[in-house]
Amino acid sequence: MSARVLDGQALARAMQEEIRPEVAAFAAQHGRPPGLGIVLVGNDTASEVYVRHKLKAGGDIGFRTDLERLPASATLAETLALVDRLNRSNVHDGILVQSPLPKAMGPGAEQRVFDAIAPEKDVDGLTPVNVGLLVQKRAVLVACTPSGIIELLDREKVAIAGRHAVVIGRSDIVGKPMALLLLHRDATVTVCHSRTPNLAEVCRSADILVAAVGKAGLVTREYVKPGAAVIDVGMNTVTDAGVAASLFPEGHSRLALFRSKGSVLVGDVHPGVAEVAGALTPVPGGVGPLTITLLMRNTLRAAKARVGQPVG
Ligand code: NAP
Repeated sequence: MSARVLDGQALARAMQEEIRPEVAAFAAQHGRPPGLGIVLVGNDTASEVYVRHKLKAGGDIGFRTDLERLPASATLAETLALVDRLNRSNVHDGILVQSPLPKAMGPGAEQRVFDAIAPEKDVDGLTPVNVGLLVQKRAVLVACTPSGIIELLDREKVAIAGRHAVVIGRSDIVGKPMALLLLHRDATVTVCHSRTPNLAEVCRSADILVAAVGKAGLVTREYVKPGAAVIDVGMNTVTDAGVAASLFPEGHSRLALFRSKGSVLVGDVHPGVAEVAGALTPVPGGVGPLTITLLMRNTLRAAKARVGQPVG
């Protein structure tokens, strides 16, 4: 039996159509669309691609989206000054600083820059204020990827309350907020990481398994309880022919793609899991498009909150 596909791409499109009239209504009422400022420092190839997708999605829905670039040689002070300018801007309701910042900026720089974002514009939900509000279950702006996953589980009618959810990964941007959101929805939550013993055994007890690790195909069928819902957050570019062959059987279209392009995008979940899981997000087309859509929803929420409108 093959797992039901949890189609993040389709949900992202549907949510964008829900957001679109609200963006237009905001623009009509306030004489300007909700605005998002994206800070990109340097020219990391993956970041360039992510930012391009965010700008396009925002523009398509009717947001004002501005790319604020700094060279790779930019200092921490210059980056903080840019964030400060966006904090004061009347046309920007949301600010996103694309991670990672160049290593040359020094240790702790990224945290300092995130901390400098005004909490009411922090559409990534990363500032201490918004993380604290999330812990207390009263946040307006919550990290986009975990918020998108909850939306997907709800709309696909995957029950959360009373079930055992296992999250692999404890990053500030995915793993920790994911665990909190599942907890707030009355799941019993286990968080795993690189020091967790018997990882496969722990994962096998999950009704809902979220993999946010960054290791291609780590979650094999031995990790999955038959019928479980499996959410694959990982985005890994495989360039090694041996790894590609260990993921896809001979004749698989993704293996053919790898052979023609020299690389293929895969998640943390091995494709063989589809034979065990009850439901599974694909990569690509699962969590990724939802992350971008939730960024837009957060920008709309931030805009409404800033003008004193209920955020919904
Ligand atoms: P991260 O900050 O590198 O965190 C990875 C987590 O995985 C850490 O907590 C780490 O444990 C844990 N881990 C590493 N190796 C492990 C292992 N062998 N067994 C168990 N746990 C292990 O990464 P992230 O930012 O959370 O992102 C995770 C993945 O999601 C990446 O592939 C990223 O590209 C992707 N991502 C996708 C989206 C999307 O929209 N689809 C959004 C964000 C991220 P320790 O804490 O012990 O080191």
